[in-house]
Order: sequence, then C-alpha cells, then structure tokens
Amino acid sequence: MAQWHLDSQTVLYAVIGDPIVQSKSPVMMNRAFRDTGINAAYAAFHVRPEGLQAAIAGMRAFGMGGMNVTIPHKQAVIPLLDEVDQSAAAIGAVNTIVNRNGRLIGYNTDGIGYVRSLKEETGIDLSGKRIVILGAGGGARGLVYALCRERPARIFVTNRTAEKAEQLAQDMSAFGPVEGGGMEHLPRRIAEADVLINTTSVGMAPQEGMSPVDAGWLHSGLVVSDIIYNPMETALLRDAKEKGCTVHGGLGMLIHQGAYAFEYWTGVAAPVQVMWEAVLEAMGLAGSGPVGGGTGR
Ligand code: NAP
Repeated sequence: MAQWHLDSQTVLYAVIGDPIVQSKSPVMMNRAFRDTGINAAYAAFHVRPEGLQAAIAGMRAFGMGGMNVTIPHKQAVIPLLDEVDQSAAAIGAVNTIVNRNGRLIGYNTDGIGYVRSLKEETGIDLSGKRIVILGAGGGARGLVYALCRERPARIFVTNRTAEKAEQLAQDMSAFGPVEGGGMEHLPRRIAEADVLINTTSVGMAPQEGMSPVDAGWLHSGLVVSDIIYNPMETALLRDAKEKGCTVHGGLGMLIHQGAYAFEYWTGVAAPVQVMWEAVLEAMGLAGSGPVGGGTGR
C-alpha cells in the first residue's frame, strides 16, 4: 500500500444523497485513494433536495475533484451542471460529476458498472443474448442503456406497472432492440431467455424471503442476476442456484460504478480488489467474495 496523507494539496471528493448514512462509498473510495497513493479524500454529505443547488455551488467554490450523486438527486442535478455526457443524458440521470478545470460534467456509471461486473464475474459474452429485465425504475434505465451497447439479440423489460416498462423500452429503442410489456408474458419470455436480471426492490431487506418470479419458471441455461446487494444472496438467486443457473449478485455493480467514477476522476485504473475488500469489511462480510463465485476483478 502506497504512503497516504492529507495536506493542503488534498483534493476532496464526496457522495451526496438523502439519506446517506448507509453509504459504503466513503470506505470504498478512501481505500482506493490510499491504495493508489493519490492525495485525495472522500466524504459523505447529507444533502436534502432544497440544499442541492448550494451543494453544487459549494463543490465549485471548494474546487472539489468530483462527486457521486445518489437518490434523490440523480435527475435534479442535471440542470445545475455545465455539461452532461451523452449516455447520462440518454439515461436521464447522473451519478458521477467530474470537475474538469472548473467545468462540472455529469456521467452515469451505474449501467456500465453493472455490465462490467456481470461480464467479469460470470464470463458471459452478451452479444446475441436474449435478456429479460424485471423492473423499470431508476436502476433499470442505466442497465438497459449499457446492455444495448453489448449488442444483445433482444431485451424485454417488464414491470408491475406495465406502462413504465413500455415507456422505458420506447426511450431506449434508439439504442438497441428493446421491447416492453406486462408481467403476463414472463413465463414464456424467461423460457426463451439467456439472461434474467432483477432490478426491482423485491427481495431486498427487510423482505428477504420474497422473489419477483416463480422458481418453476427458471431453467439451468439461464444467467440470473439481481442488482440487490442487501442481502448478498436474494431468494431469487437462491432459487436460481437450486435450478443450476449461473448467478450474479448486486455488490459488483456498486463496486464497479465506483471504479468507473474513480477512473474518470483520476485517470488511474481502479484497484477493484481492494475496493471489494473494503466494502465487504464494512458490511461485516470480510472474506466472502462475489455471489456466483467470480473473482471480483
Ligand atoms: P425505483 O426507481 O424505486 O424502482 C423500483 C422498481 O421496483 C420499480 O420497477 C417498481 O415497480 C418495482 N417494485 C417495487 N416493489 C415491487 C413489488 N412489490 N412488486 C413488483 N415490483 C415492485 O428503485 P431503483 O433505484 O431502480 O432500485 C431498485 C433496486 O435496485 C433496489 O433494491 C436498490 O437497492 C437496487 N439498486 C442496486 C444498485 C447496486 O449498485 N447494486 C444500484 C441501484 C439500485 P413499479 O414501477 O410498478 O412501482
């Protein structure tokens, strides 16, 4: 580990959100700065919606290197920035701000972080694959955009509120073969699919026992992925394992969205393995690895 200290040259980074107290980003990012010997520090600030504008002004005034933005500010921050990257504009949400010589530029690393995690931990080549996405909320938008860049054969988005799935599919249809529809199509769509991804909050603590799909619809040829990481192994992933599916948990998405942010800020390859270790330690899970047995690198 390189020498690390704070002084008058230290560049400040932070995550802002409401709430923020549960965020694992400070632990993960400070470990990354320390490991790479970069003179930077990363804080977490509880910013309420009415304070967002002042927070961005403060970022400029303090010359901060960058920020991560989480719920509920990912959309509202856009008009406060000088520029928004094309993919963040298409997704309609920013989770990473880079301060480039005083210009604040917004990016979205959630979707690309997810795809990097899925590919690295399962070894899957997504090109030509049939993908089913459960849910059409904020998480789903970034995923669908990033998955389109992998040239899948098709992406079917389904949601409890079917109109939201249809709207998401319409918004993303310029980027790839995306269709939306109601849950009644799910058994057939899953039977035909190579990859099933849960982006709903069904199965997240405190509703750990719930799965968004009937276990009987799963088949051994599927890669089943869940973006929930609390718990690390959801009921859906447990059912999928029992069916002989390849499984992929949500913690890698958290790590890799941070890894991309780190790389945008510093131009240095993120130390992904130490970031995994830092987050697992903070969750009281030191020694465990990614769900699905991947290497996490
Ligand atoms: P969101 O925008 O609020 O969307 C929630 C989605 O879940 C909607 O599609 C909603 O359907 C669906 N849903 C909620 N309760 C449901 C139920 N009882 N039955 C069926 N569908 C239900 O939330 P989000 O930001 O996308 O986050 C969703 C999940 O992803 C959360 O568990 C979050 O922790 C996780 N997440 C993980 C990461 C990561 O880094 N791994 C990143 C982002 C999010 P309706 O539209 O019908 O309400």
